Amino acid sequence: MLSKLLSLILIFSSLGMDAVCRYENQLSLGGNLFLVNRDYRISADYVPNDLVMPQVKRTSDSVLLRPEAADALERLFQAAKEEAGYSLVAVSGFRSYQTQSLIFNRRLKSVGRQKTMLFVALPGASEHQLGLAMDVARQKNTSLNASFGSSPEGIWLAENCYRFGFILRYQEQWTEITGYAYEPWHIRYVGEEHALRIQELDIPLEEYISALRTTIDLFSTENE
Ligand SMILES: [Zn+2]
Repeated sequence: MLSKLLSLILIFSSLGMDAVCRYENQLSLGGNLFLVNRDYRISADYVPNDLVMPQVKRTSDSVLLRPEAADALERLFQAAKEEAGYSLVAVSGFRSYQTQSLIFNRRLKSVGRQKTMLFVALPGASEHQLGLAMDVARQKNTSLNASFGSSPEGIWLAENCYRFGFILRYQEQWTEITGYAYEPWHIRYVGEEHALRIQELDIPLEEYISALRTTIDLFSTENE
């Protein structure tokens, strides 16, 4: 992992200060690289003001994303259909703090704290509140479980979502870093240039952002 981080810092450094400053803006709330996990929570009242409904197959009428991510999702689903003949379905996009709270408490009652903590985000700790995450299923079976990851649709999604700016956020080997169990159905929009690097280096978003922050620090120290 360390050598991957070093090579990423070298890549960022080679892009120059302007590019890195542009990326720095994307780290703040509203940006494509804003980090949300158990340690970094969003405030209860954050709701993106530009949510739209992607024009894709979906399981309900309230599947919402921010416009850039919605547009990318449409192209992703279209490519799945055209290139591989797979029908993907959007299951869950934006979720408010309040909705996440309901889901968390319901699960807490039914399966207990330990399991709930691994599988369900605490309110404020879900990327879904950003309007940049989508749970994807196949049309043949819209339930969200680990078997999606070994289905042809799930494999195609893992191999191709980066081309449209999405990353597979919760991989099995990253549980300790991301804080969440394997979720082959959950994709997060970060934009194409970041998704490409994350895919090539095969690292979690936490590591990508940490390398970016290190590079920003290096640039700012140089200029002091
Ligand atoms: Zn999800």
